[in-house]
Amino acid sequence: MSPKLTSISILIACAVAFTLSACSSAPQNQLIPNPAHNDSMRTECPGVIRTYTDLNDPDTLPNLKLRAERALANHGLRVLWELQSPHGQGLTFTEQASDRQRLTRLLDAILPAFTRYPSNFFQNMQVRDIVLVKDFHVGGQFRLAMPAPESDSLVYADNGHPQLCMAGMEMRTHHEFYHLIEHRLFKDFYFRDPAWLALNPAETHYGQGGATAYGKQFQNLGHPRAGMVSLYAGYGSEEDKAEVFGWMMTPGYAERLQDWAKQDGSLAAKLSWMQRLLMAQSH
Ligand SMILES: [Zn+2]
Repeated sequence: MSPKLTSISILIACAVAFTLSACSSAPQNQLIPNPAHNDSMRTECPGVIRTYTDLNDPDTLPNLKLRAERALANHGLRVLWELQSPHGQGLTFTEQASDRQRLTRLLDAILPAFTRYPSNFFQNMQVRDIVLVKDFHVGGQFRLAMPAPESDSLVYADNGHPQLCMAGMEMRTHHEFYHLIEHRLFKDFYFRDPAWLALNPAETHYGQGGATAYGKQFQNLGHPRAGMVSLYAGYGSEEDKAEVFGWMMTPGYAERLQDWAKQDGSLAAKLSWMQRLLMAQSH
């Protein structure tokens, strides 16, 4: 086991405001305001220590871009600063001070996420590009991230939240990546995986998909019932998987998941399922 894998297995240890299925319900050509810039992760934001750069004195745009490009090149990934996608629209960061602050915050939140994986993991999952933009929306709904397996990329955005739970944004980074993983492994974002469904307690029923969490100041709270790592996990089996993966990968969330798993056999089985998947795809 490599040191990287060892650290993963120790860590093995995201939610989600703007997620996969959210894109399907909004009417086209109607931009729905980001409701009060609601960050669904703020209520239970972990108090983990993270290293932040100075948001009050952000670096120049070229330096910020270079920082991101170097960090992600270490993982075999390329950064794209413009979004070209039929599924969503986002704006390019500019030299304006407010943009540099926003890009700094985005990098502080998401770059640590990529260090949690062995470098070949992204290649195994056919991820080549990380697209970083601002004011990103899909089908009229603002979103902070989007998997784009058709272009071998993941999209992450700063949407100008006045306050953002930084650990929550890292969790979201993993969560959206998991949607791409699911698509790679099962060729379907919404695969009703019988092996996963069998891990649920009897009488478990999922909701109507992630989209139904939107537009009502949704707050994603932890472990609302047996077998569910979070409230958002209950919205659909695809979100359940992405949530367990995201929480497992993010310091501050991973510890809570591990504690609950000691008392919750269903959740323990789901955590174990995700740990095995991560290890299996890390060679
Ligand atoms: Zn999702």
